[in-house]
Amino acid sequence: MTDALFIGAHPDDVEILAGGTVARLAHAGRKVVVADATRGEMGTRGTPEERAVEAANAAKVLKVERVNLGLPDGRISEDIPAATRRVVQLLRDVRPRTVFVHEAGDHHPDHNAISQAVKFACFQSNVLKYDTGQERFKPSRLFYFVGSRARWPRNPDFVVDITDSWDTKVAALREHRSQVANKDYKGPETFISSDIAWHMIEMRAGFFGAMINVRYGEAFLADAPLRIDDPLSLPDVV
Ligand SMILES: [Zn+2]
Repeated sequence: MTDALFIGAHPDDVEILAGGTVARLAHAGRKVVVADATRGEMGTRGTPEERAVEAANAAKVLKVERVNLGLPDGRISEDIPAATRRVVQLLRDVRPRTVFVHEAGDHHPDHNAISQAVKFACFQSNVLKYDTGQERFKPSRLFYFVGSRARWPRNPDFVVDITDSWDTKVAALREHRSQVANKDYKGPETFISSDIAWHMIEMRAGFFGAMINVRYGEAFLADAPLRIDDPLSLPDVV
């Protein structure tokens, strides 16, 4: 069994959108697996080989296991059933209690497509006659990153305090040296390699952190209201 599985479309997505949460959970001794749906082969900067090394180095920083699903970059949406099947195989293999993925409606077609495929897979994984030659498995919960590039993000259902894991998130992001702002890497300019994107990652963490009165936060959406058995067990608001 795995405590949490984080699925991103491209090899740097989980770090950008939920890297602090991954680091926090791993630091607390939870078993966390990160899955990249594609090798990022359509990326403007970096080769798939470079990106595989970067992803592995970032996983070392985060202290998590990392797998790649080998789905086609830029074209996940063209075959959602195939993507769903690949994710069902992953779920039945990793057996995560909680799954995290991009939110539906994300501006990037791959993010949107893997979000759909993961939602379908969380259902199909428990269907006995959906045959992958593996034992069926039902994850308990599915949460979504609040991370579309929408200028005014959706109101989150919960925010994780990542203040203590912010430095680890930044260190993991820096390992994606072909992708993020990095003067030492020569390649065509992209939004994510710009100083503005780096600034935005920090400002968003500050924005979401401010919602819960901490320095840095990462925000998530849920499909249904979260069950709380003891409302008095929630952390104090400072
Ligand atoms: Zn992406």
